[in-house]
Amino acid sequence: MVAGCGYPLVINMMRFDPYTLLKDSQHRRVEYVRFSITDRCNYRCTYCMPATGLQFHHKADLLTYEEIVRLATIFISLGIRRVRLTGGEPLVRKHLAGELVAALSRLDGIEDLAMTTNGHLLNDYADVLYAAGLRRINVSVDTLDPARFSQITRGGNLTRVLSGIEKAKALGMIPLKINAVVVAGVNEFDPPSLIRYSAERGFILRLIEYMPIGVDDNWKTGFVSLQQIKQRLAESYEFDDCDPVVGGGPAHYLQLSPKNGSHEPVRVGFIAALSENFCAHCNRVRVTSDGRLRECLSREGFLSLRNLMRQGADDTEIGAAIRRALFMKVDGHSFGAEHGHVATLQTMSSIGG
Ligand code: SAM
Ligand code: SF4
Repeated sequence: MVAGCGYPLVINMMRFDPYTLLKDSQHRRVEYVRFSITDRCNYRCTYCMPATGLQFHHKADLLTYEEIVRLATIFISLGIRRVRLTGGEPLVRKHLAGELVAALSRLDGIEDLAMTTNGHLLNDYADVLYAAGLRRINVSVDTLDPARFSQITRGGNLTRVLSGIEKAKALGMIPLKINAVVVAGVNEFDPPSLIRYSAERGFILRLIEYMPIGVDDNWKTGFVSLQQIKQRLAESYEFDDCDPVVGGGPAHYLQLSPKNGSHEPVRVGFIAALSENFCAHCNRVRVTSDGRLRECLSREGFLSLRNLMRQGADDTEIGAAIRRALFMKVDGHSFGAEHGHVATLQTMSSIGG
């Protein structure tokens, strides 16, 4: 079967079973759901959004917190145990901790509730998020150079983000992961400083390959292969295999130890969507901020769970619709050259990364 060529032939030979744990057409167990809870953001990262922002959804089009909790309950009934909140920037949505995080963390069956944030508001909200039950966060920090950080995020404040991270760490939100998208000619030489920073704090670093999702052409000049980054790192670090990390999925984790012994070893995840196609390890499904099920990061989602709920579907009908959609999931993403590196109509901020 050709990766990413459309609906795989295998579905003809399989029987749709509405009762087993959630699996997709390739028998990949789906165990993790990511909700983008808003497409709005207080940053405008060059790889994610245009400087002018986007045509954001009207509030009425977003899933309400009640709808998100209902969907999470349905996913749990299908065997999903892990939920991540993302965006846009999740912390710009009002009453997040008290009304959504608290409700999700009380659900029976959730083993892992996590959030991905740019960290700008973390100092303000870390306490209430922790009190509401949030224990794990990923924070996006592409560089430790304040000017470059401001350039990449178009106005972001690195000092503020780092102090929010320290607060989350002090509260015990661990293991804390740092996400960095590596962009050619911008921060491609920053991984060593991010590695040291993460090692000194016991964080896990994830280097992410720039994906052709979004609305402009920056990707064409900004893409750099993580293979190339690894080769550079191999000059200064020993690489060892390491245990899988919570939430592993598409990231390939290695333990990096500096050859000069200048700091402790650190776990680094490489998320190489293009140079090391990660689809075989896909264990997740996404719900966009306007409530569409997105079976694959690279493809538009057509099933509107929001509309189903608002039209009065019951939980069993919604669960069956989710299973059917995943049963039709394609085997691989469509980022590659054979697809012309297609940027999808939706942006990362709507999909949730
Ligand atoms: N605003 C939050 C943040 O930045 O962490 C959460 C949403 S953001 C869309 C989720 C993740 O997607 C971030 O780690 C971000 O760096 C990553 N991301 C955004 N655009 C990307 C792109 N074109 N390629 C690869 N990763 C991207
Ligand atoms: Fe906002 Fe996150 Fe996109 Fe940056 S990557 S613009 S912080 S949603």
